[in-house]
Amino acid sequence: RWVFVGARLTNNDLSLGKSSFQGQNPSWRFRSTSATERALQYQAGQKIHGFTVKEVVAVPDLFLTAVKLTHDNTGAQYLHAARDDKNNLFSVQLRTTPMDNTGVPHILEHTVLCGSEKYPCRDPFFKMLNRSLSTFMNAFTASDFTMYPFSTQNGKDFQNLLSVYLDAVFFPCLRELDFWQEGWRLENENPTDPTSPLVFKGVVFNEMKGAFSDNERVYAQHLQNKLYPDHTYGVVSGGEPLAIPDLSWKQLKHFHATHYHPSNARFFTYGDLPLEQHLKQIQEEALSKFERTEPDTAVPNQPHWDRPVRLPIQYHCSSFISDAVVVSFRCPSLCSITDTFEGFTLSLLSSLMISGPNSPFYKTLIEPKIGTDFSSVVGYDGSTKEASFSIGLQGMAEEDTEKVKQIIVQTIDEIIANGFEEERIEALLHKIEIQMKHQSTSFGLSLASYIASCWNHDGDPVQLLKISDSVAQFRKALKDNPRFLQEKVLHYFKDNTHRLTLSMSPDEAYLEKQVKAEQEKLQKKVQALSESDKKDIYEKGKLYANTYRRIARQRHEKDACICLMVLSPSDICVPVQYCEQPTNGMVYFRAMCSLNTLPEDLKLYVPLFCSVITKMGCGGLDYRQQAQQMELKTGGMSISTSVNPDYSNMDMYEQGVLLSSSCLERNLPDMFHLWSDIFNSPHFDDEERLRVLVMMSAQELANGISYSGHMYAMTRAARSLTPIGELQETFGGMEQVKFMKRIAEMPDLTQVLRTLPRIKRHILNPLNMRCAVNATPQKMSDATGQLDNFMSNVASNKKDRKPVRSDITEEPNFKPCQMKTFFPMPFPINFVSECIRTVPFTHEDYASLNILSRMMTAKYLHGEIREKGGAYGGGARVGGGLFTFYSYRDPNSLQTLSTFRKSVDWVRSGQFTQQDIDEAKLSVFSAVDSPVAPSNKGMGRFLSGITDELKQAHRERLFAVTDKSLVDVAGRYLGIGQRTCGVAILGPENDTIKKDPSWVVK
Ligand SMILES: [Zn+2]
Repeated sequence: RWVFVGARLTNNDLSLGKSSFQGQNPSWRFRSTSATERALQYQAGQKIHGFTVKEVVAVPDLFLTAVKLTHDNTGAQYLHAARDDKNNLFSVQLRTTPMDNTGVPHILEHTVLCGSEKYPCRDPFFKMLNRSLSTFMNAFTASDFTMYPFSTQNGKDFQNLLSVYLDAVFFPCLRELDFWQEGWRLENENPTDPTSPLVFKGVVFNEMKGAFSDNERVYAQHLQNKLYPDHTYGVVSGGEPLAIPDLSWKQLKHFHATHYHPSNARFFTYGDLPLEQHLKQIQEEALSKFERTEPDTAVPNQPHWDRPVRLPIQYHCSSFISDAVVVSFRCPSLCSITDTFEGFTLSLLSSLMISGPNSPFYKTLIEPKIGTDFSSVVGYDGSTKEASFSIGLQGMAEEDTEKVKQIIVQTIDEIIANGFEEERIEALLHKIEIQMKHQSTSFGLSLASYIASCWNHDGDPVQLLKISDSVAQFRKALKDNPRFLQEKVLHYFKDNTHRLTLSMSPDEAYLEKQVKAEQEKLQKKVQALSESDKKDIYEKGKLYANTYRRIARQRHEKDACICLMVLSPSDICVPVQYCEQPTNGMVYFRAMCSLNTLPEDLKLYVPLFCSVITKMGCGGLDYRQQAQQMELKTGGMSISTSVNPDYSNMDMYEQGVLLSSSCLERNLPDMFHLWSDIFNSPHFDDEERLRVLVMMSAQELANGISYSGHMYAMTRAARSLTPIGELQETFGGMEQVKFMKRIAEMPDLTQVLRTLPRIKRHILNPLNMRCAVNATPQKMSDATGQLDNFMSNVASNKKDRKPVRSDITEEPNFKPCQMKTFFPMPFPINFVSECIRTVPFTHEDYASLNILSRMMTAKYLHGEIREKGGAYGGGARVGGGLFTFYSYRDPNSLQTLSTFRKSVDWVRSGQFTQQDIDEAKLSVFSAVDSPVAPSNKGMGRFLSGITDELKQAHRERLFAVTDKSLVDVAGRYLGIGQRTCGVAILGPENDTIKKDPSWVVK
């Protein structure tokens, strides 16, 4: 957890990931027409299109000018961040503070996107998603606000999207049909059979059922609910599955009328487009139609407890990790998140207390191995009005609960007595500098989510942006009072009685109880129905079955750039790709190391090797000192597995590990020094250290299954189809999960410890390497020299030089085969995948398959699997020579497999239009041409070898795709019996599959 992720959105739809700050090419200073400079000319008091300018502030840290305004008539608040970035963003956020568990803000978020006054067609939002050049479109429900952001690089597109968004938020249709569709409804299990039993359906209902099968999520939800029980934080804003059916359509409309009002809204715009145009459009299309109200949405402070509270909760057992108890200890900091500096100090303090092996809590809780890892919610959390801090363990024995509490109290006492080392504080401030300089392509979105929580409670968002001010104030506070941090710890963690101890333990019957509770709820609803109600339900159900819509929201980022491929002048002749980019003073170094010489029996260990090799200590540094050096000198150093398909032959691929690292230009020698030590003298002697790392990895893998189950299903389905599929299963599939579980349970790890140096000899060897450097043009020659230096350092003691190198592995004898695998899981939803062997990237049919996958997703699969089937998501994709179908959090299993089949029939019968093809093309093109951060320019080419010429040829083939070629490839590749396919399902016990001998049940 990074200190600047102030706004941790408990979003229900998409993970924003970590917010990060990008600097900008400083050349803007020399252009008088820059957006940043133009914005500086606004004056406080100036009136523009119904708004009044309140404040204009230059924020040089982030290369932007902030303009704060208020709307005169309604009191709506507005912040514009002018910055010379083409990727403009708009966001409107409403303070939504529900007082029950029906999920009303979440269902509303879904329903407003189903049509509005000006755009009454079903789903204007998702139609725009197909037609626009947007780089981001979505909506989020947090626990106390709902946010609608989009971004695009095109000015005309911005106006169109703004129009759709304003109309959706302020003038939605909120039709009854949309409510039942998105929220919940009763419907015949089989909508075409009036005698089949009635069941609950609805997008949000199923989405939340899926979310509540994720133990980490449930735990986080409970922590918040129980720590602030007296107001809106005491309820589940996303909706508790069994409370959702208590919501009525009328209540939904009422919630909209009271919360989605300009007087309760905050508008944010970002980028290089002119502010006046935005204000004019927002005023004309929305705000001018409202009068001021007094929205009663403010969140009062939680009454302070005078003694700590403890509570036990239960969860379903996971079959992949031994039964585990989680304990957290949490106290609200009393500090309001609108106090910017206090929040800054506490988030810094939180990092000092828990991040990395040098932190006090890591030493006292993780290293003694009482549990497997910190609990999933740990550290400072500024997403509620009053911030909180949590510390806890997962994967521990129930009887250790008291012991853990004792240790936590003792650790806090020790911190109060001893404070922190100065060097660790410096390392953290260094990290902030890196974070500000690192560029991302979605800066506007990061900014919007960064300020959201604080602004939501009337904090000053501009103050929050002035990071240097906070750093300076922090340094001064520490200088004036060396015990500054210790006193904070005393105040917030020792003398604070508003503390919660929450323990979570497994319950064998948890799932059963949940099913029973749902049955009872259903019974109650059904008993209240008359015969005519039932008939009505059947008629409506048929109607839904004939309506489908929505497309997958996924966008893949690919890059297109011109890079220079040259050989390093050093005698070792390691290929190096240099890419000159405006990286704002950062250097990015990456290297791919081949696994070709690694013996087969060591392959399963490679992911484990990657996760520990940079964390065990190296050279003269023990693992603590190593972690400290990395924090002080680099923006991160890591190694991960990397398997890349050949673009023209499906039985060829490159297998390797990818080294990734970055640092400020001035620290490049230090970073290469660290890499040299990792190559030449890694420490492989500390079994205790290894055990800690192994347990954390195994826990992380086990936790991941319930939210990335579709990835595991897809990986498994591909296993028997290509050599690369087989390798991916080994590195990142269910096979790897089981392997890590086995290792974590071994009483003695010496054998594993002995394996690591064997792997190292094969992998960390310059003879097997190629490198990529992204840096500014000014720094490139210096970087070249240092890379050379590094190469000779790590090569000097290699006596067995093999002259032959081969990057590509070929397995001409690989025989693809059919395989159906089922993994029984302790959660009530399925992840289903079917995968078909097709053609590689350069094959003439690849473009048609690519367009086909988008069109099938948008026009058929999403509707069938999500709208009708009730799954959270589903679709098709191509890559690695495979055409893959998948579903996500799906109540169905075998039925979804037949939906995949039916989608092929749908294409072959030609029931789509030219418009459908054009939309699929637009969506593929916008992914191909989406922006790439300077740090990642050229990486696509570095990893896959796909040149700009190959890409251009692919673009031309995409352009040439016709309805005929789509029908044709669907028949030739996807028709039954045409090609080899694999199937995998992760889900609850399934009797039909168990009885069917064609399935392998794990
Ligand atoms: Zn949702």
